[in-house]
Amino acid sequence: MTGFEEAYQLILSFAKAGLKEKVGLDEATGRVLAETVRSDADMPPFDRSAMDGYACRKADLDQHLKIIEEIPAGETPEKQIKEGTCSKIMTGAEVPPGADCVVKIEDTNLLSDKRIEITIKRSVNNIRRRGEDLSRGDVLIKKGTRLGSQHIGLLAMNGCVDPEVYCHPKVAVLSTGSELVEPATSPSSSGIRNSNGPQLLSQLRSLMIKSIDLGIAKDDKLSLKEVIKSNLGDLDVLLVSGGVSMGDYDFVPGVLTDLGFDIKLHKMKVRPGKPLLFGVRDHQFVFGLPGNPVSTFVQFEVVIKPFLLKLMGADVLERDIKMELGEDLRIKTMPLRFFVPVKIKSGMAYPLEYHGSGHLASYSQADGILEIPENTSLIKKNELVYVRPL
Ligand code: AMP
Ligand code: MG
Repeated sequence: MTGFEEAYQLILSFAKAGLKEKVGLDEATGRVLAETVRSDADMPPFDRSAMDGYACRKADLDQHLKIIEEIPAGETPEKQIKEGTCSKIMTGAEVPPGADCVVKIEDTNLLSDKRIEITIKRSVNNIRRRGEDLSRGDVLIKKGTRLGSQHIGLLAMNGCVDPEVYCHPKVAVLSTGSELVEPATSPSSSGIRNSNGPQLLSQLRSLMIKSIDLGIAKDDKLSLKEVIKSNLGDLDVLLVSGGVSMGDYDFVPGVLTDLGFDIKLHKMKVRPGKPLLFGVRDHQFVFGLPGNPVSTFVQFEVVIKPFLLKLMGADVLERDIKMELGEDLRIKTMPLRFFVPVKIKSGMAYPLEYHGSGHLASYSQADGILEIPENTSLIKKNELVYVRPL
């Protein structure tokens, strides 16, 4: 059986970013930039006041100064500051020639005959110099960056209103199992509600991937084959939950092979999610996820999510963060990579009660997934561990 690390690298090696498209800023959040965007101007574009106050000369701070002009933001100053003069200036307005500082309004008294007195003695500056943040041509956002709201602001600032991004993959979700009913239905005594379908669709939505819900398929080889075959069309990735293990009704691996998928991986040394299947057919990919809700959830987070991000062109994959364990953790030694839910308190990870891969409720309090290396029997409090934030 393949070890987790090897399986992970194998799966990721198939993910290559594909087509590009231009999108408006209202559609760009969560997309991955396919071009490096450079600054089209110096930033700030001119020497700019950081305060509401008076622009003047540092050499004149001990004098009463005559106000010669008012400069609101967006207006070009017309008068030059000379000895004994100042201009009233607003935050963001262009600093007039001759001024080398701005004294904020709270540090002045307005006298009669349009004069001011400055009440602080220490040196002031309050001027943001042209190009202080960025020079024209500097890299603003690197290719491969997944765009968040802060990047949308930078793109807007730069006038880049239709950034080039990678096309998102077309992903479909199929839940298999003759015991499954739709969540809105009351199950019979031997049935259960389909939770994996809505859960996977939600995980895809968190990556801003629009996906297709193929609903529930029964454990029947012919109808399973039919539903997969008729929906493959131009899909990039198919996620199938349930029916991938060794049971008499686990038809997914056989059906996928019949449909021409090359099964690159089936089973890896991991818990939960050991029977994970990964197959390739031309440019289409399929993941078969074990039906237990925690297995499906965890395998999406730790394997499928990085795969999809790489397929979407992201070069910085979501990484585990290192933190200290909050209390001793004893584990039955196993030659498997083990993932358990944790609560994060004051920057430390506390393992939550976990009864196994059917125990979805264990994740309701979780802030992260703790990754436990193979053959570990004890991790002591304060030891550094890897946690994947949720
Ligand atoms: P399987 O992988 O098909 O052997 O299913 C393993 C366990 O997960 C069984 O107890 C199933 O009833 C359960 N299961 C399978 N699919 C789902 C689903 N879509 N939602 C909730 N539980 C499921
Ligand atoms: Mg099943």
